[in-house]
Amino acid sequence: MTLEEMTPGVARLRTLIANIYLVGSPGGPWVLVDTGAPGNAGRIRNAAEQRFGRDARPEAILLTHGHRDHSGSALELADYWDVDIYAHRLERPFLSGKSAYPPKDPMAGGAFSFLSRFFPASTIHLGDRLRDLPEGGEVPGLVGWRWHFTPGHAPGHVAFFQRYESVLLAGDACITMDLDSAMGMITQEPRISRPPAPFTYDWDQAHRSVELLADLRPLAIGAGHGEPMFGPAVAAGLADLARDFPRPRRGRYATEPARADETGVTYVPPPVDDPAPKIAAAVGLAAMALGAVIALSKKTESKKTEARSQKSE
Ligand SMILES: [Zn+2]
Ligand SMILES: [Zn+2]
Repeated sequence: MTLEEMTPGVARLRTLIANIYLVGSPGGPWVLVDTGAPGNAGRIRNAAEQRFGRDARPEAILLTHGHRDHSGSALELADYWDVDIYAHRLERPFLSGKSAYPPKDPMAGGAFSFLSRFFPASTIHLGDRLRDLPEGGEVPGLVGWRWHFTPGHAPGHVAFFQRYESVLLAGDACITMDLDSAMGMITQEPRISRPPAPFTYDWDQAHRSVELLADLRPLAIGAGHGEPMFGPAVAAGLADLARDFPRPRRGRYATEPARADETGVTYVPPPVDDPAPKIAAAVGLAAMALGAVIALSKKTESKKTEARSQKSE
């Protein structure tokens, strides 16, 4: 887990699941964008000391959205540094114990959707450390950066953009690896791709958010998942994704989104039939039946032997 400088003003810390960004130049004020899953606080503190010195303390912690792999270590760090945590006001219900996110959709297609069945669906409670991002787009603790509202993957998802270095921190509005193919997950080859499908509840919004990010024409992108990318490939990749946005053909949110407001989730479409548990149950039943047949045949066999040995006596 190493800290890499992405641009002079942005460093990335890669964790097992999600990326974390330390934004600001050494010697000046800085903020933390996203915090990884629970258990990363120590590593983040070490990385911050490495880049900003022994008494490193950010101006604020910012969250692109509240999914556990981005908000998991936020509270521990906020308490340690005594700083506030900022997220969009529409993420508040999911970061204050008021609402769960819309249920995940393992039927949205692709390798990661299939695997998502095994991921826990718990939310994080940030208590009174949580603040709403200021309306209007300014970013607490940073000059020259703006936040952009990019919902679809999460109701209050935001991305952060700095025009001077033309650098975009996209969160999960789009990512730089292909989670839909098993190969993409293993090799992590850089590629601008749709948001993680099983946790995306509104594909129209998700598409519009990618269009908005494409319009920024960034020269560098750091997303929640995947390697940072640089140069003309970034704007081109975003434009391609915006033009040919791969909506899922099936799944719970394929035709109708979930809805949410400042109180949390207000509507979810009915679940679609998921054959995987049925297949697993059928395989289990078949195995049990086979076991019973084997046990029964063994019993008959031993009875026969018993009868034979009684005969011979
Ligand atoms: Zn997410
Ligand atoms: Zn994520």
